[in-house]
Amino acid sequence: MSGPSQSRGKVYLVGAGPGDPGLITLRGKHLLERAEVVVYDYLANPKLLSHVPEEAERIYAGKKGGGLHAFTQAEINRLLIDHAAAGKRVVRLKGGDPFIFGRGAEEIEELVAAGINFEVVPGVTSATAAATYAGIPITHREYTASVAFVTGHEAPGKKESNIAWDKLATGAGTLVIYMGIKNLPIITRKLIDNGRSPDTPVAVVRWASTPQQRSVEGTLATITDIVKEAAIRPPALIIVGEVVKLRSTIDWFERRPLFGRRMVVTRTREQASELVALLEENGADCLEYPTLHMEPALDYTVLDQALAEIGSYDWLLFTSINAVTWFFRHLNELDLDVRSLGGPKIAVVGRATAKKLRDYGLKVDLIPEKFTGEGLAEALIKAGVGKDDRILLPRAEKAREVLPEMLGKAGARVTVAPVYRNVPPQGRKDELRQRLEEQSIDLVTFTSSSTVDNFLTMVDAASDEELHRLLDPVKIAVIGPITAKTVRKHGLRVDIQPEEYTIASMVDAIVHYYRNQPS
Ligand code: SAH
Repeated sequence: MSGPSQSRGKVYLVGAGPGDPGLITLRGKHLLERAEVVVYDYLANPKLLSHVPEEAERIYAGKKGGGLHAFTQAEINRLLIDHAAAGKRVVRLKGGDPFIFGRGAEEIEELVAAGINFEVVPGVTSATAAATYAGIPITHREYTASVAFVTGHEAPGKKESNIAWDKLATGAGTLVIYMGIKNLPIITRKLIDNGRSPDTPVAVVRWASTPQQRSVEGTLATITDIVKEAAIRPPALIIVGEVVKLRSTIDWFERRPLFGRRMVVTRTREQASELVALLEENGADCLEYPTLHMEPALDYTVLDQALAEIGSYDWLLFTSINAVTWFFRHLNELDLDVRSLGGPKIAVVGRATAKKLRDYGLKVDLIPEKFTGEGLAEALIKAGVGKDDRILLPRAEKAREVLPEMLGKAGARVTVAPVYRNVPPQGRKDELRQRLEEQSIDLVTFTSSSTVDNFLTMVDAASDEELHRLLDPVKIAVIGPITAKTVRKHGLRVDIQPEEYTIASMVDAIVHYYRNQPS
């Protein structure tokens, strides 16, 4: 704890937003990206930790209420002070806004007393998020001109309330009550007894802005029973006022077609993002189980030799984005660029791969109508590829042989050059098993045969019987016919398959499927 480092230490009290990790501020994200220590809460979405540098220390200081505290408030204060005094950039990440029922100010008071530098970053508080994500505007010219944020959590055993329920009952148009689920019967009684109509609309929203969001609606007279019936537990907010009526018009979040559906995405970590983004946009709760991990090929001799005589090749084929990426990675390692590719024409299996080549400044000469290896071979043969044409095919070490075989039969000389390897990643197996056992997964997506094989390796069923017990309740979506065939080969059923073999079409097909399903 030397002098200069001490002056560098600082605590950033950052609002994490209500739940959706997209609802943190840019300032908050910026600070997470530079954090050395992060102390985070139960209500701060742990997904936000993906912004934090790998080497940073992550400390969970969750307080769940009801005595399940991981740390006491005094211990949390101590943690913040000690790390900042040791010269660290500490981010204290709190759910919602740190200064709204978050005890943020108490933490700051301790920092001031200890002479520690600090900064506070506001966040989207759960009250506005819950209202917005439940389709309720907390103000509206025709219904209310005022809002009150209230805590519904009274210290246990406290006789006299600090809250002027008599004034609040009719004093504010909209009331948003935090931490009020346990006391809901008392709160509604107090509001009615103090003059608010028992018919006043009320909504209760749990885990707002997350895929687990649930909301129910009633009136001051009925909401207690409704919440009990629906078994709504904290964390939830209570919204009281005429504005709740607008929900029937504005509700948007829970109405998205895939809302409440949990879907497994099995692509490689590197590729999953597009599929996840499209599914999430439609409301799905995505679980990413990357079943593939890519590593460089073990041996690049074939490719190096082909590159040395690239001028004698007629065609260069790419059957996936990965092949493009790893091919150029190796080219780059050889200190070469596109200019060294010279003469061959370029063909790809699909539009996404063509687009990827565009990023490297290369135009594609041929894309087949059918986005499969067979489709590409047929299109090439139709374009006149045949006797003694030289073809270079950079690809994964292990892949389907149909493309080189078909071209070989047509008389072409195909060089298959491995540029990367697919290896199954470790971990997460137990979690997946558990979720399948509890039947909490609605659908699994497969975008290639190897994702099917690797997923099933990960499931690791001891018998066919077990495989069916685990996977029969789960719907299966595939990108195209080859993947479908692999699924069926394992004795499983394909539920969803798009006509066009693209990620976007697959998501459209999934949305279409669930639109026509009772929830
Ligand atoms: N500082 C936080 C509030 C902390 S108090 C904020 O600004 O949002 C904790 C209470 O906030 C919970 O009991 C619950 O009433 C509410 N809350 C926090 N996140 C929530 C969420 N995602 N959905 C519903 N209520 C939430």
